[in-house]
Amino acid sequence: MSCMTFVLFLTFAQIWASSMHPRLPPSSKLSTNPKEQTSYYWIHNARSTITEKIQRSLNQNVAKNVILFLGDGMSIPTVAAARVYQSGEESELAFDKFPYIGLAKTYAVDRQVADSANTATAYLAGVKANYGTIGVGPEVNFGDCQGMTNETNHAFSIAYYSQLKNKRTGLVTTARVTHASPAGVYAHTSDRNWESDSDIINDGQKPEICSDIASQLLFGETGKKLNVVMGGGRMKLLPNNMTDEEGQKGERSDGANLIQTWQEQRINVKYAWNRSQLIGDVTFDNLLGLFAHDHMSFNLERDTTNEPSLAEMTTVAIKTLSRGSDGYFLFLEGARIDMAHHSGASRLALNETIEFSKAIQAAVDLTDESDTLIVVTSDHAH
Ligand SMILES: [Zn+2]
Repeated sequence: MSCMTFVLFLTFAQIWASSMHPRLPPSSKLSTNPKEQTSYYWIHNARSTITEKIQRSLNQNVAKNVILFLGDGMSIPTVAAARVYQSGEESELAFDKFPYIGLAKTYAVDRQVADSANTATAYLAGVKANYGTIGVGPEVNFGDCQGMTNETNHAFSIAYYSQLKNKRTGLVTTARVTHASPAGVYAHTSDRNWESDSDIINDGQKPEICSDIASQLLFGETGKKLNVVMGGGRMKLLPNNMTDEEGQKGERSDGANLIQTWQEQRINVKYAWNRSQLIGDVTFDNLLGLFAHDHMSFNLERDTTNEPSLAEMTTVAIKTLSRGSDGYFLFLEGARIDMAHHSGASRLALNETIEFSKAIQAAVDLTDESDTLIVVTSDHAH
């Protein structure tokens, strides 16, 4: 459907352009690649592509490591426009070079247009669910505090099953680590907005009954075993009588300092709150990196001395998770593609997509496809 829309849009754009410029001068050719100016190039290009596909042998190894990249809100038009933004229509993003591609349709059980919460349940746990819910089946309605506590309604993520196989597990995002997509790795909640206990209290519900997402990151069956957690969102893990390293107040009502507790739960652990603490040091078994009070910055607005790039976090996450013999599962999210789109900020959205592509390339460079499966997807369009 999106493909069709895009093709129609192009056709319309071409008609509009040709009506505006009835006699295009030869110098207005779009492609900057001189090779594209010959028929020989295109015929040779098609032949070599087909030959390469035919000669590729099917990799039937069982993956020891799985890395799942999620470009939040990264629609097909976003991908196409990001190529243009990168260096022109003919350029390729890191995942354009992958050998297999498919299309998925997205909807929620109770709504036509899906959000980041129920899609996280779908791609991480394999269960389609209701809008705004995370890690619970369609039996649980949005905002149902009691329903989410019934464990028979819980949908478990691939991180949970990886931990059963003694694999190391981690998540990396440019949003708050308690935001909808990363929460799909470890949380079971009927409301994506219940990131701290104060969020639940403000909604007139009881956090002692329906546990907030940050608490589940610390004490949930999957959350408590995560080896790597990186992103933003210190506010959801700190009490409201305490400030973080950059002087901003926490928002928890229960007085819990979950950043402290995370470190106490684990051995050989590192906590980093800025880029210089993160880069280069991969001698720890467990890593908590919280680089912002709220979401991390858009890349174009990022203080590069304080906040790492998604590619830098990806590199450290893979190296840290590789410190084990049974393999790992890693979830990585380019979260702010979606948020830029929500604001209609196309330049930010495309730049975030390029950063996402760079992170994928970093993962490709660090791993071997004989034992590592890398999947790149989106959750919904814009
Ligand atoms: Zn999303």
